[in-house]
Order: sequence, then C-alpha cells, then structure tokens
Amino acid sequence: MTATLATASYIGATILFILSLGGLSNPETSRRGNLYGMIGMTIAVLATVSGPHVTSAGYAWIIGAMVVGGSIGLYASRVVRMTQMPELVALMHSLVGLAAMLVGFANYIDPAASAEFTGAAKSIHEMEIYIGILIGAVTFTGSVIAFGKLSGKIGGKTLLLPGRHWLNLAGLLVVIWFGREFLHAESINDGMMPLVVMTVIALLFGIHMVMAIGGADMPVVISMLNSYSGWAAAATGFMLSNDLLIVVGALVGSSGAILSYIMCRAMNRNFISVIAGGFGSDGGAPAPAGGVQPAGEVNPVLAAETAELLRESKNVIIVPGYGMAVAQAQHTVYEITKVLREKGVNVRFGIHPVAGRMPGHMNVLLAEAKVPYDIVLEMDELNEDFPDTDVAMIIGANDIVNPAAEEDPSSPIAGMPVLQVWKAKTSIVMKRSMATGYAGVDNPLFYKDNNRMLFGDAKKMLDEVLTALKA
Ligand code: NDP
Repeated sequence: MTATLATASYIGATILFILSLGGLSNPETSRRGNLYGMIGMTIAVLATVSGPHVTSAGYAWIIGAMVVGGSIGLYASRVVRMTQMPELVALMHSLVGLAAMLVGFANYIDPAASAEFTGAAKSIHEMEIYIGILIGAVTFTGSVIAFGKLSGKIGGKTLLLPGRHWLNLAGLLVVIWFGREFLHAESINDGMMPLVVMTVIALLFGIHMVMAIGGADMPVVISMLNSYSGWAAAATGFMLSNDLLIVVGALVGSSGAILSYIMCRAMNRNFISVIAGGFGSDGGAPAPAGGVQPAGEVNPVLAAETAELLRESKNVIIVPGYGMAVAQAQHTVYEITKVLREKGVNVRFGIHPVAGRMPGHMNVLLAEAKVPYDIVLEMDELNEDFPDTDVAMIIGANDIVNPAAEEDPSSPIAGMPVLQVWKAKTSIVMKRSMATGYAGVDNPLFYKDNNRMLFGDAKKMLDEVLTALKA
C-alpha cells in the first residue's frame, strides 16, 4: 500500500471512530456506534500492516502476534461475565500503559529511530519518549490496582499514607528534575538512568493514586484511567510518528476526561483532587460506634405481599443496581413491568450514574432486556417524583439509595447524590442479606418504617413476584 492510500485509510478510520463515539453516547444508536468502531479498527489495522512502515520480514511476527492476541480476545469475550467487564476494561487499560512504556524504551534504545532526529527535533522526540513512558507507567500500575480492587483481589479500603500530597509533589519535582537530566544526556547510556528513575516513580505514583481511593469513588478513577490510557496511546503515536494513533489516542483521552468530569459532577467530587489521588477520603471518618450508625428493626416482606403492593400502586419506580446484574434479573424485571403496565400502573426506571460497576451498566442490561428507552430515566429526571410514588422497588442496589449520603456528614459517601427512594410511600429493597454494598457503608434505609426487605436472590424473588402477579 502506498503512503497516500495509507493516509486516506487513516482519515476514513478516524471519521468512523468519531461516528462510533457519537453513536455510543445514546443507547438507541450504540449498536451502530459499535459497528462503526469495528469497521474503523479493521481499516486501521489493515492500513498499518500493509503500510509503508512494515517490511515483509515483519509479517510473520505481526501475524503471529495477531493470532495470539485475537485468540485471547475471543476467549475473553466468551468467558467474561457482564459483571466482570469493568475488571476486564481495567486490565486492558493496563496493557495500553504497558505498551506505551515498552514502545518508549524500545524507541530510545533503537539506534535507527534516534538517528532520524537531530537538533531541536531530537529534543522534541526525547520529550515525547519521556512523557509517553511517564503516562504509560502511571496508567499501567494504576489500572492493575484498579483491576485488583474491582475484582476483590485487593481490599476496597483506602490506603492513606501520611503526607501523601507532599509525597506526590516531591515525586513530581524529582520527575521534572530528571526530565532535564534526560534531555541533556550525551548518550543513550547517560539518559537511561534518569529514564529508569522516572519510570519507577511513575509506577509507584500509579499504585499510590489508586490505593488512596476507595469505596464509592472508584468509578471516577476508572474513567480517569480510561482517559490516561488514551493519552498513553497518543504519546505512543508521537513516538512512532503514527498520525492515526495520535488522533485516536486524543479521542479516547478527551472523551475519557469528559466522562470523568461528568462522573465527578454526578458524585459531587472535585475534578482536580481526583487527579491528585485520594480525593473524598478525608471526609469519611468512620462513624462512631452507637452514634450515627443505623440500627433498629427491619421489616421483611414476602414475594406475594410485594406483588400485592405493586398491583395496588399507580406509580412505581424501579431502581436497579449491581445485584440485578449479578442475578441477571433484567428479563424478569421487564416481564413484571409489562404485566404492571397492562394493568395501568405507571412504571419507570431510575438510573444512578454509578449504579453497577461501570458507567451505563444498568442501561446496557435494560436495553438487552428490551425495556423501552422512554421509561428509563436518569436520577435527576425523577428524583423529585418519589413523594408521588407508591412503591420504589430497589433491585440489588445499595450505595446509590443510601440516605446517609445526604443525612450523615461523617459518612464516607457524604455529598454523593442518591436516589431518594425513602420518600416514596413504600420502598422495597430486594437483596440477599444485610450486607453492605461496594462502598462498605451501612444503609439506614433498611431500618426506615416505610421500608420493606425482600431477602433472596433478585432473580428468584422476582420470578416469585411475577408468578404472584400473574395468579
Ligand atoms: P452496591 O455495590 O452498593 O450494592 C449491590 C447490592 O446488591 C449488595 O448490597 C448486595 O447485597 C446485592 N446483591 C448482590 N448480588 C445479589 C443477588 N444475586 N441478588 C440480589 N441482590 C444482590 O451497588 P449499587 O449499584 O447500589 O452501587 C454501585 C457501587 O459500585 C457504588 O458504590 C459505586 O461507586 C461503585 N462502583 C461503580 C462503578 C461504576 O462505574 N458504575 C465502578 C466501580 C465501583 P447482598 O450481598 O446482601 O445480596
């Protein structure tokens, strides 16, 4: 393929990626968005492999790598459950970071690559390498820790080192100092030491940044790492002089940054303190024993009574959470919705921005069950409607309906907006036990007088409710 044809293919692929991102912003167009992305990526890979930078000697390696990588991808897509998607995404971000690091080192020690540049161009190229490895290293370890936290391999508790912000600042100053040393290095051997020191600091910063974040704040750091992985890819593009990688990396980096900003707003967190790490952790002193900790009696309810309450309602809001994803109860939820709507009950779904374990998690599940989009509403669109709601049915959700976020300033989730289900005439929480949610915080909702607990697996309980409703 000639250089002109490769450039034309890259432009085509870029347009498809932009259309893909546009499509993914809405559940109704997301399938089309995915398709655009797949076609764009196929064109990008073909144009790169058959492009002028690849010699015939490299084909065996490339095809071998594609077979191994493709097989792993195919296997993962078959075995990974929907609830494990966020972990998989975190793992993939770590690979982007690792790739940026390795490309950076390879580029630096490759005599052919460094011989291409002289004078100012050489300094710019070295700066690209330094920054690329820096972002790649932070993304790599940060994503590995995020993977550990999401998969439960590392505890969700925050690790707050004393003077952590000073540590981060000292690390930044050392990185800047060694950056100067690196740019002034006479030879590759001289430059290697500052590069390695910076890499070690960046790797440690990635660990520190994510270890300092816990509980309900994880979604923000995940979208932040998504953004970092985009910038790491863009940096790789600069190092390899690959325009497509620069553009695509910038697209992922900026869309991830926008998503992080939206998440921060949704979680009522400060964007800048997210980047510094450990945000939101200071406000969360553990609740004093016997103080504001929720206590009292809970009111258990049976599936048949739940069906009765639903049947007698005019307005019902269903709030799905992570437990609905675990139980794969979305299809039964929709069956119940259909029965109730046929009886003239106004049923709507309330979606919290961080419900589940990834942005849009609940929307994806409900779309899969073919729930009409017009009855699926965002938290802000229906939070005021709870006082006029007869039953708020909470399916496997916990943190996102926790009144402590509004009522208890010492709660680790204080300030996070939540769905105000307790304002409904009756709320019914469907879960298996009194266990806490992801943030590990007790939920006073369970003890409110107008709340009922329907204990059991969400799918099993909803099947029973459906049977009772149809009886
Ligand atoms: P939570 O994690 O707060 O609660 C889920 C509840 O589901 C648990 O309390 C659990 O209780 C219950 N559950 C689990 N399995 C089942 C089952 N089979 N049947 C019935 N219930 C079940 O989920 P939420 O959706 O309310 O909140 C999301 C949390 O995850 C927030 O803290 C958010 O910050 C965090 N998070 C979100 C991410 C995102 O991007 N959306 C990413 C990372 C974290 P029990 O064990 O008693 O059944």
